[in-house]
Amino acid sequence: MQQLVFEQAGRYAWRAAPDPQISDAKQALVRPVMVACCDLDVAVAEGVLPMPPGHAVGHEGLAEVVAVGDEVTNVRVGDRVVVPFQINCGECNACRRGVTGSCAALPLMAMYGMAPLAGLDGGGFMADLVTVPFADAMLLPVPEGVDPVAIASLSDNIPDGWRAIGPYRAELAALDEVDRRVLVVGRRSIGLYAAAFGLAYGAQVDYVDTDQRRLAMAEKLGARVHERPKPDRSWDPYPVTVHTSADPSVLTSTLRATWPDGVCTDTGIYYQGGVEMPLLPMYTRGVRFVTGRVNARAVIPEILELLATACDLAPAVDRVVPWDDAPSVWPTMTQKTVFTR
Ligand SMILES: [Zn+2]
Ligand SMILES: [Zn+2]
Repeated sequence: MQQLVFEQAGRYAWRAAPDPQISDAKQALVRPVMVACCDLDVAVAEGVLPMPPGHAVGHEGLAEVVAVGDEVTNVRVGDRVVVPFQINCGECNACRRGVTGSCAALPLMAMYGMAPLAGLDGGGFMADLVTVPFADAMLLPVPEGVDPVAIASLSDNIPDGWRAIGPYRAELAALDEVDRRVLVVGRRSIGLYAAAFGLAYGAQVDYVDTDQRRLAMAEKLGARVHERPKPDRSWDPYPVTVHTSADPSVLTSTLRATWPDGVCTDTGIYYQGGVEMPLLPMYTRGVRFVTGRVNARAVIPEILELLATACDLAPAVDRVVPWDDAPSVWPTMTQKTVFTR
């Protein structure tokens, strides 16, 4: 089979690899048909996140089931499925309590398409075939009537945006309408998804960014947009804030814009190591701070339910590109790009 491989900064190429085979009764083989770039792929392509070359890329997408092991009962050959980017067994203690991003049966960070970061690499989705080790636990059928392009990021970035809002929707709903406000200080797609979910749960959303293209997308999703690097002291604080830029100074100002006993979720990855946190003001005002990786598989079903009724994520997609153009387009991506075949 062919798979897209990161060869060196700015260069990606199709490379031949052996066809995977079913080797365990719980496995499925799937053929990705629609793959989205993750925000991390864009950071690697832009050189913002240096990464050693030589690995197969792609870890967000929809696929068609082409073979299943004898014990697989939830999906059948021919089904269209969402494939979470994290590999999880569904049976261990962590999986059973919904912490599917840290499956205890596998090395930490078992995932697809990011071999240099992965505890266990499942291969890339920009490939003709992908092995799903625990098909019943991982795969979810794509519902009828949902735009596949809009949900191609359901493997990763869409749940990552949701987890900054979804767990607090009851808190938001309990507030007076005038207080039902969400601040998203965004960079890349996760902030756009968080904005979309804030709106879907009935909040007024203020979206802050420096990028014109994303500001236009956020506006199309229904957010009030603000072109500036970060919120300042004049901002009326919010019960729910989201920060996705991985810039410590923007994090500090987002924390400052969180109201007493409010919650601030940070989806950024701080590769630089130690980051100063304003713990005294956070203590004084009682800000709840949430960081960590999303548990993608655990939250996708709830998101699918929401998408069927209240929420269209299509405006967050920048480009739809033919599969065969991936080697030339992948290194030039700046926003959410979806490859189809
Ligand atoms: Zn990702
Ligand atoms: Zn597990």
